[in-house]
Amino acid sequence: MENKQKQTPLSELGEFGLIERLTEKIQLKNTSTLKGVGDDAAVLNYPDKKIVVTTDLLTEGIHFNLMYVPLKHLGYKAVVVNLSDVFAMNATPKQITVSIAISSKFSLEAVEELYSGIHLACEKYGVDLIGGDTTSSLTGLTISVTAIGEATDEELAYRSGAQVNDLLCVSGDLGGAYMGLQLLERENEVFKVNPNQQPQFDRYDYILGRQLKPEARGDIKELLKTLNIKPTSMIDISDGLSSEALHLCKASKVGCSIYEEKVPLDSQTKAFAEELSINPLVAALNGGEDYELLFTVPLASFDVLKKEFDITIIGHITAESEGANLITTGGSVIPLQAQGWNPLMNKAKA
Ligand SMILES: [Mg+2]
Repeated sequence: MENKQKQTPLSELGEFGLIERLTEKIQLKNTSTLKGVGDDAAVLNYPDKKIVVTTDLLTEGIHFNLMYVPLKHLGYKAVVVNLSDVFAMNATPKQITVSIAISSKFSLEAVEELYSGIHLACEKYGVDLIGGDTTSSLTGLTISVTAIGEATDEELAYRSGAQVNDLLCVSGDLGGAYMGLQLLERENEVFKVNPNQQPQFDRYDYILGRQLKPEARGDIKELLKTLNIKPTSMIDISDGLSSEALHLCKASKVGCSIYEEKVPLDSQTKAFAEELSINPLVAALNGGEDYELLFTVPLASFDVLKKEFDITIIGHITAESEGANLITTGGSVIPLQAQGWNPLMNKAKA
Protein backbone atom coordinates (compact mmCIF):
# COMPACT_ATOMS: atom_id res chain seq x y z
CA MET A 1 0.00 0.00 0.00
CA GLU A 2 2.74 2.48 0.97
CA ASN A 3 4.77 3.52 -2.03
CA LYS A 4 8.52 3.55 -2.07
CA GLN A 5 9.03 7.30 -2.45
CA LYS A 6 9.98 9.66 0.38
CA GLN A 7 7.46 9.82 3.20
CA THR A 8 7.04 13.28 4.73
CA PRO A 9 5.82 13.39 8.34
CA LEU A 10 2.66 15.53 8.68
CA SER A 11 4.32 17.41 11.55
CA GLU A 12 6.61 19.06 8.97
CA LEU A 13 3.66 20.90 7.41
CA GLY A 14 1.35 21.64 10.32
CA GLU A 15 -2.43 21.80 9.89
CA PHE A 16 -2.56 24.93 7.75
CA GLY A 17 0.25 23.74 5.52
CA LEU A 18 -1.55 20.42 5.04
CA ILE A 19 -4.89 22.07 4.20
CA GLU A 20 -3.15 24.37 1.71
CA ARG A 21 -1.44 21.42 0.10
CA LEU A 22 -4.68 19.42 -0.15
CA THR A 23 -6.81 22.22 -1.57
CA GLU A 24 -4.43 24.22 -3.77
CA LYS A 25 -5.53 22.62 -7.03
CA ILE A 26 -9.29 22.96 -6.52
CA GLN A 27 -11.14 24.65 -9.36
CA LEU A 28 -14.79 25.41 -8.71
CA LYS A 29 -17.19 23.97 -11.30
CA ASN A 30 -20.68 24.89 -10.14
CA THR A 31 -22.34 28.29 -10.36
CA SER A 32 -24.09 27.49 -7.07
CA THR A 33 -20.68 27.64 -5.35
CA LEU A 34 -20.11 31.34 -4.74
CA LYS A 35 -17.21 30.80 -2.33
CA GLY A 36 -15.39 27.54 -1.66
CA VAL A 37 -12.33 26.93 0.50
CA GLY A 38 -10.51 30.00 1.86
CA ASP A 39 -12.88 31.92 4.10
CA ASP A 40 -14.52 31.12 7.43
CA ALA A 41 -17.35 29.39 5.58
CA ALA A 42 -18.33 28.48 2.04
CA VAL A 43 -21.14 30.45 0.37
CA LEU A 44 -23.74 28.72 -1.80
CA ASN A 45 -26.46 30.15 -3.99
CA TYR A 46 -29.54 28.10 -4.88
CA PRO A 47 -32.37 30.31 -6.10
CA ASP A 48 -35.68 28.40 -6.45
CA LYS A 49 -34.20 25.00 -5.58
CA LYS A 50 -34.64 22.63 -2.68
CA ILE A 51 -31.37 21.69 -0.99
CA VAL A 52 -30.55 18.19 0.24
CA VAL A 53 -27.77 17.59 2.75
CA THR A 54 -26.37 14.23 3.86
CA THR A 55 -23.36 13.12 5.84
CA ASP A 56 -21.43 9.92 6.55
CA LEU A 57 -18.67 8.98 8.94
CA LEU A 58 -16.19 6.21 8.09
CA THR A 59 -13.84 4.77 10.71
CA GLU A 60 -10.77 2.60 10.17
CA GLY A 61 -11.31 -0.92 11.48
CA ILE A 62 -15.11 -0.53 11.44
CA HIS A 63 -15.94 0.59 7.90
CA PHE A 64 -12.70 -0.10 6.08
CA ASN A 65 -9.55 -2.14 6.44
CA LEU A 66 -6.38 -0.53 5.08
CA MET A 67 -4.82 -3.98 4.77
CA TYR A 68 -6.59 -4.34 1.44
CA VAL A 69 -8.19 -1.02 0.58
CA PRO A 70 -5.84 1.40 -1.19
CA LEU A 71 -6.11 4.96 0.18
CA LYS A 72 -7.03 6.40 -3.20
CA HIS A 73 -9.96 3.99 -3.48
CA LEU A 74 -11.00 4.80 0.06
CA GLY A 75 -11.11 8.53 -0.72
CA TYR A 76 -13.12 7.88 -3.86
CA LYS A 77 -15.57 5.59 -2.09
CA ALA A 78 -16.03 7.95 0.87
CA VAL A 79 -17.30 10.58 -1.58
CA VAL A 80 -19.36 8.22 -3.74
CA VAL A 81 -21.36 6.74 -0.85
CA ASN A 82 -22.49 10.25 0.08
CA LEU A 83 -23.35 11.21 -3.47
CA SER A 84 -25.42 8.03 -3.65
CA ASP A 85 -27.62 9.37 -0.84
CA VAL A 86 -28.12 12.63 -2.74
CA PHE A 87 -29.07 10.70 -5.90
CA ALA A 88 -31.44 8.62 -3.77
CA MET A 89 -33.46 11.81 -3.20
CA ASN A 90 -33.60 12.15 -7.00
CA ALA A 91 -31.41 15.22 -6.51
CA THR A 92 -28.08 16.28 -8.05
CA PRO A 93 -25.00 16.67 -5.83
CA LYS A 94 -23.09 19.94 -6.21
CA GLN A 95 -20.76 20.36 -3.23
CA ILE A 96 -19.00 18.28 -0.59
CA THR A 97 -17.04 18.97 2.56
CA VAL A 98 -14.44 16.49 3.78
CA SER A 99 -13.12 16.20 7.33
CA ILE A 100 -10.43 13.77 8.41
CA ALA A 101 -8.79 12.73 11.64
CA ILE A 102 -5.38 11.12 11.08
CA SER A 103 -2.80 9.51 13.30
CA SER A 104 0.93 10.09 13.00
CA LYS A 105 1.35 6.76 11.18
CA PHE A 106 0.15 8.53 8.00
CA SER A 107 2.62 10.54 5.97
CA LEU A 108 1.85 13.55 3.79
CA GLU A 109 2.13 11.27 0.75
CA ALA A 110 -0.46 8.89 2.22
CA VAL A 111 -2.91 11.72 2.90
CA GLU A 112 -2.34 13.06 -0.61
CA GLU A 113 -3.12 9.60 -1.97
CA LEU A 114 -6.42 9.64 -0.05
CA TYR A 115 -7.21 13.11 -1.43
CA SER A 116 -6.34 12.07 -4.98
CA GLY A 117 -9.30 9.66 -4.74
CA ILE A 118 -11.50 12.39 -3.27
CA HIS A 119 -10.57 14.79 -6.09
CA LEU A 120 -11.13 12.09 -8.70
CA ALA A 121 -14.69 11.52 -7.44
CA CYS A 122 -15.32 15.29 -7.44
CA GLU A 123 -14.14 15.42 -11.02
CA LYS A 124 -16.20 12.45 -12.15
CA TYR A 125 -19.45 13.65 -10.53
CA GLY A 126 -18.96 17.38 -11.11
CA VAL A 127 -19.03 18.40 -7.46
CA ASP A 128 -16.99 21.10 -5.72
CA LEU A 129 -14.95 20.40 -2.59
CA ILE A 130 -15.80 23.52 -0.57
CA GLY A 131 -14.37 22.92 2.87
CA GLY A 132 -13.76 20.60 5.76
CA ASP A 133 -11.38 20.11 8.61
CA THR A 134 -8.29 18.09 9.47
CA THR A 135 -7.27 17.03 12.92
CA SER A 136 -5.09 14.40 14.51
CA SER A 137 -6.26 11.13 16.01
CA LEU A 138 -4.52 8.79 18.44
CA THR A 139 -5.23 5.70 16.36
CA GLY A 140 -6.22 5.22 12.77
CA LEU A 141 -8.11 7.24 10.24
CA THR A 142 -11.61 8.70 10.34
CA ILE A 143 -13.22 10.39 7.33
CA SER A 144 -16.44 12.38 7.36
CA VAL A 145 -17.97 13.59 4.12
CA THR A 146 -21.00 15.86 3.81
CA ALA A 147 -22.70 16.21 0.44
CA ILE A 148 -25.02 19.01 -0.65
CA GLY A 149 -27.30 18.71 -3.66
CA GLU A 150 -30.21 20.34 -5.39
CA ALA A 151 -33.54 19.39 -6.91
CA THR A 152 -36.78 21.09 -7.76
CA ASP A 153 -39.70 20.42 -5.48
CA GLU A 154 -41.29 18.17 -8.14
CA GLU A 155 -38.12 16.15 -8.68
CA LEU A 156 -37.51 15.20 -5.04
CA ALA A 157 -38.29 11.54 -4.27
CA TYR A 158 -38.80 10.53 -0.65
CA ARG A 159 -38.94 7.06 0.83
CA SER A 160 -42.52 7.75 1.80
CA GLY A 161 -44.15 8.15 -1.62
CA ALA A 162 -44.74 4.54 -2.76
CA GLN A 163 -48.36 3.71 -3.66
CA VAL A 164 -50.13 0.35 -3.82
CA ASN A 165 -49.68 -1.21 -7.31
CA ASP A 166 -46.55 0.86 -8.08
CA LEU A 167 -43.77 -1.10 -9.74
CA LEU A 168 -40.68 -1.75 -7.61
CA CYS A 169 -37.52 -1.23 -9.65
CA VAL A 170 -33.79 -1.49 -9.14
CA SER A 171 -30.86 -0.12 -11.17
CA GLY A 172 -27.85 -2.24 -12.17
CA ASP A 173 -27.23 -5.55 -10.40
CA LEU A 174 -26.98 -6.56 -6.76
CA GLY A 175 -24.73 -8.61 -4.49
CA GLY A 176 -21.50 -7.86 -6.39
CA ALA A 177 -19.93 -5.62 -3.74
CA TYR A 178 -20.50 -8.24 -1.06
CA MET A 179 -18.97 -10.99 -3.18
CA GLY A 180 -16.04 -8.66 -3.93
CA LEU A 181 -15.51 -8.26 -0.19
CA GLN A 182 -15.57 -12.04 0.30
CA LEU A 183 -12.91 -12.31 -2.41
CA LEU A 184 -10.69 -9.66 -0.76
CA GLU A 185 -11.06 -11.34 2.63
CA ARG A 186 -10.18 -14.74 1.19
CA GLU A 187 -7.07 -13.40 -0.54
CA ASN A 188 -6.09 -11.47 2.61
CA GLU A 189 -6.20 -14.73 4.59
CA VAL A 190 -4.06 -16.44 1.95
CA PHE A 191 -1.60 -13.52 2.09
CA LYS A 192 -1.30 -13.80 5.87
CA VAL A 193 -0.25 -17.44 5.50
CA ASN A 194 1.92 -17.00 2.43
CA PRO A 195 2.95 -13.38 1.62
CA ASN A 196 4.66 -14.51 -1.59
CA GLN A 197 1.53 -15.89 -3.20
CA GLN A 198 -0.06 -13.54 -5.74
CA PRO A 199 -3.76 -12.84 -5.15
CA GLN A 200 -6.17 -14.65 -7.52
CA PHE A 201 -8.30 -11.79 -8.81
CA ASP A 202 -8.20 -12.33 -12.56
CA ARG A 203 -11.65 -13.79 -13.21
CA TYR A 204 -13.38 -11.48 -10.77
CA ASP A 205 -12.49 -7.94 -11.85
CA TYR A 206 -16.14 -6.83 -11.87
CA ILE A 207 -17.05 -7.81 -8.29
CA LEU A 208 -13.70 -6.52 -7.06
CA GLY A 209 -14.45 -3.15 -8.66
CA ARG A 210 -17.95 -3.18 -7.14
CA GLN A 211 -16.35 -3.40 -3.69
CA LEU A 212 -13.29 -1.20 -4.16
CA LYS A 213 -14.56 1.44 -6.53
CA PRO A 214 -18.35 1.68 -6.32
CA GLU A 215 -20.13 4.26 -8.45
CA ALA A 216 -23.25 6.23 -7.52
CA ARG A 217 -26.18 6.13 -9.95
CA GLY A 218 -26.34 9.76 -11.02
CA ASP A 219 -27.52 8.62 -14.43
CA ILE A 220 -30.87 7.30 -13.18
CA LYS A 221 -32.33 10.74 -12.46
CA GLU A 222 -31.50 11.82 -16.01
CA LEU A 223 -32.76 8.57 -17.54
CA LEU A 224 -36.13 8.74 -15.75
CA LYS A 225 -36.46 12.39 -16.71
CA THR A 226 -35.82 11.52 -20.36
CA LEU A 227 -38.41 8.74 -20.17
CA ASN A 228 -40.83 11.19 -18.57
CA ILE A 229 -41.20 8.98 -15.50
CA LYS A 230 -41.35 10.46 -12.03
CA PRO A 231 -40.29 8.03 -9.29
CA THR A 232 -42.86 7.97 -6.48
CA SER A 233 -40.27 6.88 -3.91
CA MET A 234 -36.56 6.15 -3.86
CA ILE A 235 -33.76 4.86 -1.62
CA ASP A 236 -30.19 3.79 -2.32
CA ILE A 237 -29.08 0.22 -1.63
CA SER A 238 -26.26 0.51 0.86
CA ASP A 239 -27.36 -2.23 3.28
CA GLY A 240 -28.85 -4.91 1.02
CA LEU A 241 -32.13 -5.10 -0.87
CA SER A 242 -34.12 -6.56 2.06
CA SER A 243 -33.25 -3.82 4.46
CA GLU A 244 -33.87 -1.01 1.93
CA ALA A 245 -37.18 -2.47 0.72
CA LEU A 246 -38.31 -2.62 4.34
CA HIS A 247 -37.29 1.02 4.93
CA LEU A 248 -39.23 2.08 1.86
CA CYS A 249 -42.32 0.06 2.81
CA LYS A 250 -42.28 1.33 6.38
CA ALA A 251 -41.94 4.98 5.33
CA SER A 252 -44.68 4.61 2.69
CA LYS A 253 -46.94 2.46 4.92
CA VAL A 254 -47.20 -0.22 2.23
CA GLY A 255 -46.06 -3.80 1.60
CA CYS A 256 -44.24 -5.26 -1.37
CA SER A 257 -43.68 -8.45 -3.35
CA ILE A 258 -40.19 -9.06 -4.75
CA TYR A 259 -39.78 -11.95 -7.18
CA GLU A 260 -36.66 -14.05 -6.65
CA GLU A 261 -36.08 -14.73 -10.33
CA LYS A 262 -36.21 -11.00 -11.13
CA VAL A 263 -33.42 -9.92 -8.75
CA PRO A 264 -30.55 -8.87 -11.07
CA LEU A 265 -27.27 -10.73 -10.43
CA ASP A 266 -24.06 -10.42 -12.44
CA SER A 267 -22.45 -13.60 -13.77
CA GLN A 268 -19.31 -13.02 -11.62
CA THR A 269 -21.48 -12.61 -8.51
CA LYS A 270 -23.10 -15.95 -9.31
CA ALA A 271 -19.80 -17.66 -10.17
CA PHE A 272 -17.96 -16.61 -7.02
CA ALA A 273 -21.00 -17.39 -4.84
CA GLU A 274 -20.98 -20.87 -6.36
CA GLU A 275 -17.27 -21.19 -5.62
CA LEU A 276 -17.98 -20.37 -1.95
CA SER A 277 -21.14 -22.53 -1.92
CA ILE A 278 -23.40 -19.65 -0.96
CA ASN A 279 -26.63 -18.50 -2.59
CA PRO A 280 -25.97 -15.30 -4.58
CA LEU A 281 -29.49 -14.15 -3.72
CA VAL A 282 -28.39 -13.84 -0.09
CA ALA A 283 -25.60 -11.49 -1.20
CA ALA A 284 -28.17 -9.35 -3.04
CA LEU A 285 -30.70 -9.35 -0.19
CA ASN A 286 -28.36 -8.94 2.75
CA GLY A 287 -24.93 -8.04 1.40
CA GLY A 288 -24.95 -4.29 0.95
CA GLU A 289 -22.66 -1.63 -0.49
CA ASP A 290 -24.01 -1.99 -4.02
CA TYR A 291 -25.07 1.69 -4.16
CA GLU A 292 -27.75 0.97 -6.71
CA LEU A 293 -31.12 2.71 -6.49
CA LEU A 294 -34.37 1.05 -5.42
CA PHE A 295 -37.42 3.03 -6.49
CA THR A 296 -41.09 2.86 -7.31
CA VAL A 297 -42.89 4.16 -10.38
CA PRO A 298 -46.55 4.16 -11.39
CA LEU A 299 -47.80 0.92 -12.98
CA ALA A 300 -48.40 2.85 -16.23
CA SER A 301 -44.60 3.10 -16.71
CA PHE A 302 -44.29 -0.66 -17.28
CA ASP A 303 -44.07 -0.68 -21.08
CA VAL A 304 -41.45 2.06 -21.16
CA LEU A 305 -39.32 0.69 -18.29
CA LYS A 306 -39.24 -2.94 -19.39
CA LYS A 307 -37.20 -1.85 -22.42
CA GLU A 308 -34.46 -0.33 -20.22
CA PHE A 309 -31.77 -2.99 -19.81
CA ASP A 310 -30.14 -1.22 -16.85
CA ILE A 311 -33.36 -1.05 -14.82
CA THR A 312 -35.10 -4.19 -13.59
CA ILE A 313 -38.69 -4.39 -12.40
CA ILE A 314 -38.32 -6.76 -9.45
CA GLY A 315 -41.83 -6.63 -8.04
CA HIS A 316 -44.63 -4.34 -6.97
CA ILE A 317 -46.09 -2.50 -4.02
CA THR A 318 -48.91 -4.15 -2.07
CA ALA A 319 -51.13 -3.16 0.84
CA GLU A 320 -49.33 -2.73 4.15
CA SER A 321 -51.33 -5.63 5.63
CA GLU A 322 -49.74 -8.05 3.14
CA GLY A 323 -46.25 -7.29 4.42
CA ALA A 324 -42.93 -7.13 2.54
CA ASN A 325 -42.23 -10.51 0.95
CA LEU A 326 -39.90 -12.40 -1.32
CA ILE A 327 -41.75 -14.68 -3.74
CA THR A 328 -39.40 -17.56 -4.52
CA THR A 329 -39.11 -19.18 -7.92
CA GLY A 330 -41.06 -22.11 -6.47
CA GLY A 331 -43.87 -19.78 -5.39
CA SER A 332 -43.20 -19.70 -1.64
CA VAL A 333 -43.81 -16.41 0.16
CA ILE A 334 -41.00 -15.49 2.55
CA PRO A 335 -41.18 -12.32 4.68
CA LEU A 336 -38.18 -10.03 4.04
CA GLN A 337 -35.85 -9.62 6.97
CA ALA A 338 -33.52 -6.74 7.63
CA GLN A 339 -30.21 -8.50 7.85
CA GLY A 340 -28.27 -5.69 6.24
CA TRP A 341 -24.92 -5.27 7.87
CA ASN A 342 -24.83 -3.19 11.01
CA PRO A 343 -21.44 -1.50 11.43
CA LEU A 344 -21.93 -1.40 15.18
CA MET A 345 -22.18 -5.17 15.33
CA ASN A 346 -19.97 -6.41 12.51
CA LYS A 347 -16.26 -6.54 12.12
CA ALA A 348 -14.52 -4.36 9.51
CA LYS A 349 -16.25 -4.85 6.20
CA ALA A 350 -14.46 -2.84 3.56
MG1 LIG B 1 -29.14 5.92 1.86
